[in-house]
Amino acid sequence: MQAYDGMYIDGQWRPAAGADTIPVVDPADEQIIATVPAGTAQDVDAAVRAARAAFPGWAATPPAERAGYLRALRDAMAARKEEIAETVTAELGAPIGFSRLVHAAAPILVAGSYADLAASYPFEEKAGNSTVLLEPVGVVGAITPWNYPLHQIVAKVAPALAAGCTIVVKPAEHTPLTARLFAELVHEAGLPAGVFNLVTGLGPVAGQALAEHEGVDLVSFTGSTAVGRRIGATAGGAVKRVALELGGKSANVILPSADLARAVRVGVANVMSNSGQTCSAWTRMLVHTDQYDEAVELAATAARKYVAGDPREETSRLGPVVSAGQRDRVRGYLEQGVAQGAKVVTGGPEAPLATGYYVAPTVFAEVTPEMTIAQEEIFGPVLALLRYEDEEDALRIANGTVYGLAGAVWAGDEAEAVAFARRMDTGQVDINGGRFNPLAPFGGYKQSGVGRELGVHGLTEYLQTKSLQF
Ligand code: NAP
Ligand code: MG
Repeated sequence: MQAYDGMYIDGQWRPAAGADTIPVVDPADEQIIATVPAGTAQDVDAAVRAARAAFPGWAATPPAERAGYLRALRDAMAARKEEIAETVTAELGAPIGFSRLVHAAAPILVAGSYADLAASYPFEEKAGNSTVLLEPVGVVGAITPWNYPLHQIVAKVAPALAAGCTIVVKPAEHTPLTARLFAELVHEAGLPAGVFNLVTGLGPVAGQALAEHEGVDLVSFTGSTAVGRRIGATAGGAVKRVALELGGKSANVILPSADLARAVRVGVANVMSNSGQTCSAWTRMLVHTDQYDEAVELAATAARKYVAGDPREETSRLGPVVSAGQRDRVRGYLEQGVAQGAKVVTGGPEAPLATGYYVAPTVFAEVTPEMTIAQEEIFGPVLALLRYEDEEDALRIANGTVYGLAGAVWAGDEAEAVAFARRMDTGQVDINGGRFNPLAPFGGYKQSGVGRELGVHGLTEYLQTKSLQF
């Protein structure tokens, strides 16, 4: 077990103000693998002051130079890719193959995309007799979750730095080791002191202190809707900018003309990967009533291939969920699904392994739109199949939750799928299994959030405008 005692503030590892620590648990074997300091308001204050002090210099650094630092950071991440994957697997429990392919690789792509954007974005526009300057917002307070521990940090840090902002990150208590590794990489990349700062700690203590700090100009939060609502209120009270990436309950709409087998297989993979802990996962599969029974069979067969096992084994396809609390939450939903009349086709509340926070890959059939398991974010390897009568019915069901983060449409031809996607109240739709694009804006309609991450839209969140009239 490794006991870490520092936080990365003002370009160096400094001891925490208090003595409390947070244990980091390997969810696959329930053993404590490390402890990190539990930061307090005092640590947050030191970090925000460092970011404030570094802001004028960083904001004045030419964008091309900022791009150079981001490129160095991307290269530092690429050089330690395997260590990133191993760290994510150790504290999150994602299968090592998925950690390499997604948890380590995606942030490298995103950092690279912002190196390019910093170099190419004009930061100045003309509008009639005005010149509009796009200037950095200031000091950013970033609060991130555990489900994509590096991606969610990089999706905030890279655009913030590209824009000329400085930043303080408070990572999730379950995944601070990936965040610490990222801070080491920032250091290796040679970023000026204070531009990036890391304070580990608990949400209601360090997270809240960061959201409330007067020296923070923009709070960027990813996590649950409950906490996001509070952070939005706090920021509103202080007339501070806020970006919220919250939950989802996305619909995977399979139209009758689609390749059913492929749509179901990809849909199941989408939900089971990362043990279902993906905010944009398509957790509701909508199938025409004539094809419903066949889809249920196909989904059950596909889900059974996600055998739970040690995430360090190359062959394991399903790791544990992140914590005992998360496992219990997911199980609670499984029990509720049964109680409300949904049918377990495979999986269910029983644990597939004796040790580790595992949840069986579960497929529910006969799910109706008003059931809790069709409305609330479960965040576990659980898929709900709903039947629809016609396209209007499918649209009503797809749009019938408080969320609107992502979704998918499958049809015989793209135009048919796109026509349906245009009517969906959601921020992202994959057409016939579209591929991940690090430049595509990501964020929610409705209660899935405020603001966008990734690409140019993710950059402009960190900019404010100043108009000069001539
Ligand atoms: P969460 O509590 O919202 O955690 C997200 C981040 O906010 C963490 O860094 C957390 O710190 C921090 N936080 C918690 N309370 C805070 C407060 N009062 N002020 C400021 N920051 C605070 O989410 P969770 O408890 O980890 O997960 C609960 C559920 O949220 C999941 O089951 C899932 O449904 C949803 N979720 C969604 C996403 C997403 O990407 N949309 C990600 C994660 C979870 P701590 O780590 O110390 O709590
Ligand atoms: Mg929490």
